[in-house]
Amino acid sequence: MSWWGLMQPQKRQKVVIVGGGAGGLILANSLARREGFSVTLINDTPYHYYLPQLLQIAFRGDDSQLKRELVGLVKKNVDLLIDSVETVDLNNRTVLTRSGRSINYDIVVLAPGLSIDHTAIKGNDKLVSLYGDFHSTPDNAWRTFNVINSLKKGKLVIAVADPGHRCPPSPYEGALLADEALRARGVRGQVEITLAVPYPRAYPAETFNEVLEPILKERGINIETFFTVDTVDVDNRKMTSLEGGELSFDAAIVVPIHRGPKVKVVPEDLKTEDGFVKADKLTNRIGDFDDAFAIGDSSTSTTVRTGVTAHLEAKVVEKRLLGLSAQNTGRTNCPTEIGFEMGTFVISDFNHPSVKLPPKGVFFIMKRLFADTYWDVLKHPEFWDPIFDVYFEATSPEKLWKMFP
Ligand SMILES: Cc1cc2nc3c(=O)[nH]c(=O)nc-3n(C[C@H](O)[C@H](O)[C@H](O)COP(=O)(O)OP(=O)(O)OC[C@H]3O[C@@H](n4cnc5c(N)ncnc54)[C@H](O)[C@@H]3O)c2cc1C
Repeated sequence: MSWWGLMQPQKRQKVVIVGGGAGGLILANSLARREGFSVTLINDTPYHYYLPQLLQIAFRGDDSQLKRELVGLVKKNVDLLIDSVETVDLNNRTVLTRSGRSINYDIVVLAPGLSIDHTAIKGNDKLVSLYGDFHSTPDNAWRTFNVINSLKKGKLVIAVADPGHRCPPSPYEGALLADEALRARGVRGQVEITLAVPYPRAYPAETFNEVLEPILKERGINIETFFTVDTVDVDNRKMTSLEGGELSFDAAIVVPIHRGPKVKVVPEDLKTEDGFVKADKLTNRIGDFDDAFAIGDSSTSTTVRTGVTAHLEAKVVEKRLLGLSAQNTGRTNCPTEIGFEMGTFVISDFNHPSVKLPPKGVFFIMKRLFADTYWDVLKHPEFWDPIFDVYFEATSPEKLWKMFP
């Protein structure tokens, strides 16, 4: 570089982030404190939703942590746009929005999460309008709450239709919290709970199943294996599975089919048939593009769709933009509430299966602490990053496997 070049201020890279959820917001606030970047964050609603709260609504009627306004969560030098992104054109480095904006970028990061398809299973849209669910919207979670609070007898079925659903332990938490709520109402003896799953055992990962299945059994929850929901017949109160099974119910909740985000990506072959953005598992790079990344639920790089994964991927992208050679490790850290103020965690990484972490009261407290600190973690990554580094190191699957063989 010439002496004249050295005198010039370095051009700041314009980073456009699509989606201000768990991944996009952390990345925006992380990059905003770095020199050399200008950050634009585009979200289609003025709010950030804390999705784990859907479980608390559905089974406890508690929406206290559900949402906050994004404007109060972004750092002041993040340029926040409330608009819906329709197309990301990687060839022309352009983001097009519903309101007609055309925004150029140097770097683009897709973090628009996923979309829920209630119509993919015949009859499920009608089922949801009656019994709700805890994987789509707050309204649907409130519907489930009303059912759990009015059911007096009969059969309650919770069925998993999509093995790729958000938060792997969430259907089990749903069944166990339903058990807790029905016991509290004194009607558990009259309500049979069945958890129907597509897997050969209750929980897909064999090691964690050793922890969870005995708990489900102890709580009297029936487990229906090899049951991938195919159709729901609300009038006759029964559902069928692709494997040829049939279950009758008085009330039922289906963990619905998940699809990729409703954002067009050009070139179009960079999305899967289900609409997820194809990105590298280790680096989150989209295809061969050096200037485009996809993180969190929207991306095929995400093997386990959790907020923690989206957060860790955001950190990898941040480091890569700073010129470091960071890579994803596949670390999971899913706090799993089992009711009665007890909990455990699903902890694994690419090299270690889920640890057999026995349930403890302290893990329930940790889950609650995560929820309480969530908003501060989003806004102040500079404070929380070193704390998380210590936490993830101390609870690495390698170390935990030695403690809980
Ligand atoms: C019941 C339940 C329990 C869960 N429990 C846990 C848990 O205990 N721990 C955990 O780590 N994870 C948990 N999760 C999963 C976690 O919430 C998600 O994996 C996480 O939110 C994914 O983050 P994301 O940034 O990829 O997407 P999201 O958080 O979904 O954010 C996507 C953002 O993009 C915006 N957007 C969408 N489309 C557009 C568009 N076209 N233009 C602009 N903006 C757009 C959305 O409004 C949203 O703000 C749970 C999920 C559920 C449903």
